[in-house]
Amino acid sequence: MINLKERPAARMKLIGGRMCLDFVNTVGGWKRAPGGEGDGLFYVVARADKLVDYLDLPAWGQHTGMLSENEAQALARAARRRVREAAATLRRAVALRGAIYRICIAIINRAEAPSSDLDLLNRELNIAHDSLRLGSGPENFVWEWIKNGLDQVLWRIAYSAAEMLTTDDLSRLRECPGDNCGWLFLDTSKNSRRQWCDMQTCGNLAKVRRFRRRQSS
Ligand SMILES: [Zn+2]
Repeated sequence: MINLKERPAARMKLIGGRMCLDFVNTVGGWKRAPGGEGDGLFYVVARADKLVDYLDLPAWGQHTGMLSENEAQALARAARRRVREAAATLRRAVALRGAIYRICIAIINRAEAPSSDLDLLNRELNIAHDSLRLGSGPENFVWEWIKNGLDQVLWRIAYSAAEMLTTDDLSRLRECPGDNCGWLFLDTSKNSRRQWCDMQTCGNLAKVRRFRRRQSS
C-alpha cells in the first residue's frame, strides 16, 4: 500500500462547493507577477503548493471521494511504472489549475475570461470526452470513465469546471480576501454574504485583527 493519506493534498479542507474549486484551492496566495499585467501570469507565494508530485493527484482524488482507495492505489502503482507520463500529467494538472483559477478571477472581476485559458480547458475537456463511454447500469445506462488513464483525475476536474461554468450562478463565485489566501468558493448561503473560505481560519484571523485594532485605538 502506497501511503497517500498523509500528503497535504489528502488533508486539505474542501470548502469550494465544487470539485474544480477545491482543486484550484490546492494552492493559495496567488499574486500577479510583476510585469505580468493583463497577460494572466500569476505566481504563487506564501502558501505551500499541495501538488508537488504525481501521487498528490490520486491522494487528492481519494480525499474528495472522486476515487475509491483501490482506484487511487492503482493510479499510484501505475505512476511508478510510467514515470514520464506521470510527470507530464502533473504538469497538465498545474496548468489546468491555473487556467480554471484565472477564468474564475475574470468572472469575479466581471472581465472576459482569457481565451488561452478557455482553450486549455477545452483541450482537457476533449481528452475527457474521449475517456467517457456509455455502459449499462442497474436501471438506466450510465456514463463510465475508462479506467486506465493516469490523467483520470484531470478528466473529472475539467468536467466539474464545465458543469460549474454552464450551470451554476456564477455571481456567487467568491475569492477569499484572507491574507495570502485567495481560495475560491461558491457562496451558496441564503443571503449571499459568505465572505471567508473558512470561518475557523481566515474568518477568525480577521476577527482577531479587528479586535486588536479596537484595543489599540
Ligand atoms: Zn481564506
